[in-house]
Amino acid sequence: MRSKKLFLINFVLIGVFLLAAYYFWFPAIWRCQTARFADFTELPGNVLVSNDATASERAELTKSIERSRVRIRQFWGTQLGNSRVIYCHDPQCYQRYALQDEGAGTSLGTPTGSWIVLGPEGLNDDVISHEMCHDELFTRLGWFKTKNAVPQWFDEGLALMVDYRFTNPDSTRRHLDYLDEWMLTTHHGSTALDLTEIRTVKGFFNGDAHHVRQAYLTSGLEVSRWLSVVGHRGLTELVLALRHGEAFDAAYARIEKSRQQLADSQRN
Ligand SMILES: [Zn+2]
Repeated sequence: MRSKKLFLINFVLIGVFLLAAYYFWFPAIWRCQTARFADFTELPGNVLVSNDATASERAELTKSIERSRVRIRQFWGTQLGNSRVIYCHDPQCYQRYALQDEGAGTSLGTPTGSWIVLGPEGLNDDVISHEMCHDELFTRLGWFKTKNAVPQWFDEGLALMVDYRFTNPDSTRRHLDYLDEWMLTTHHGSTALDLTEIRTVKGFFNGDAHHVRQAYLTSGLEVSRWLSVVGHRGLTELVLALRHGEAFDAAYARIEKSRQQLADSQRN
């Protein structure tokens, strides 16, 4: 009886300790998880909006999310991700939930859940579609594979395919648009980054604004090139290969090669 009581006390203490450690190490995640109990209002479609947001912001947010979902469905075929969207009316709120001062939006993918956090500048279709695309890959691959098997440049490049801040929406022109922007930013390639330099989150984001802009353009350029060869089916094939444990580089090159061979044989 005594040992049973002792076990229970230890069990509760360990639970309290783990909860405190979780909050200490991942404050943003804890906040996102408990946001519905804080100063937010729930909107239909798994959306939380901060109470100080105006009525027109709420209306625009709802419309923008719907338009972004359409973009995701057009790009992926269907939308499997359904992360909660947390919209902050002011930068201080965004800093608390996204743990960053800069940027208009972010997606937090963790083993215990995923969220899209938007700041006041994130109230537009490009930002929301971009974050939803990260969430879509995350949902299809799971936390471990997204964090360990996918290079950052691919994750960002893919998100740029539904985010038209660098290019116009016409997907047939996308690669050429990226090429134009990339040539301008890298002085015709002379200061260009290599994909190996932006493989990790650190390599991608650690640098000044010019470095990050180059990182985005390099990613958009490469992913738009690859997609122009492999198409939507190639992307589906890549996700499947990664889920089955094939290494990213091998699968990426193999799919491109087979699609290219198929296109060549159909031409001849
Ligand atoms: Zn991104």
